[in-house]
Amino acid sequence: MKKSMGYRTILSVIFIAWAVLTVQLSFAEQQAVLAVNKVTGPLSVVVLGSGDAMASSKKGRASAGYLIFTDGKPRILMDVGGGTFARIAESGADLSTLDTILFSHLHIDHTADTSAVLKTIYLHNVRGKTKRSASTSPINFYGPAANRSLPQADAFDDTSQFIAGMYGEKSGLERYLHGFVKAIGAGEFAYTATDVSADQFNNVNGEMKPADVKTIIHTADGLTVKAIGVEHGPVPSLAYRIEYKGKSIVYSGDTTSNTDNMLTIAKSTDILIYDAAIMDDIPPKDSAFRKFHTAPTRMGEIATRAAAKQLVLSHLSPITDTRIDQLKSIVKGVGFKGVITEANDLDVYNIN
Ligand SMILES: [Zn+2]
Repeated sequence: MKKSMGYRTILSVIFIAWAVLTVQLSFAEQQAVLAVNKVTGPLSVVVLGSGDAMASSKKGRASAGYLIFTDGKPRILMDVGGGTFARIAESGADLSTLDTILFSHLHIDHTADTSAVLKTIYLHNVRGKTKRSASTSPINFYGPAANRSLPQADAFDDTSQFIAGMYGEKSGLERYLHGFVKAIGAGEFAYTATDVSADQFNNVNGEMKPADVKTIIHTADGLTVKAIGVEHGPVPSLAYRIEYKGKSIVYSGDTTSNTDNMLTIAKSTDILIYDAAIMDDIPPKDSAFRKFHTAPTRMGEIATRAAAKQLVLSHLSPITDTRIDQLKSIVKGVGFKGVITEANDLDVYNIN
């Protein structure tokens, strides 16, 4: 009897030791592969969503979203499409200091997870025992102003109206977040919303000239965010340029690139993240889809003339997902000499 108890005890000890070791190993493995642990240097971007609006099992890509880090800290969220909430969880990012959300435009594949991400920002504050206040740490939203002169553009309000409709304290759909943030001890849910002109042209004494790049954020530590209006069918849309410590990231948002505005904002950038949803000949010329996205030949022209150092193909669709090599060779064929990569969810680009 005594002997058999001894065996059982030994077996139990071995089992517990094995379980502890396994848990520790898997935790260590997880730590090693978390996207946040690959972030180094002054300016980085973690791809949260490299897909488009269609949920597709090919690569299971989330819709558009990019998390910008400065000096290793999450600083800016650029678009918040469906699925980006889950990618934030998988990345290991702590959003408690994140204070800026940029929308390229208000299509759902660029905005759908905003509420989920806002709630998690405040839960990260609780986890880290920090609080946010209206005067020191509001969430600052930026996005396109409405443009009633565009056909069908009355489908899109100013970004500030969109935000007020969602989070306004009196009648916003998600107004409960104000009480929720207070109740969990995360401080105050406060935000600002800035409408940025998405006009692609300026009227200069009756003559239409291409729009200029506008600086919309410039902080004391040298972070600069610039924007320019780009064509995305009738949808007011912006491309963004983020600069920090001499490094830069440009994001096209969604655009046909029919004007030279992408060229203007992308000059000599380190990383150019581009809307790669269509091919030169797919879908066919009469497809409505072509009025919204950039064909590879045009993308190659812009990237080459802008002398971008690296082109990142993103917003990948079922059309382009199976034709990445063909897309790359078209861009190279136009003369682009920089590095071309396919964006995948949770990829980390460090600009050192
Ligand atoms: Zn899109």
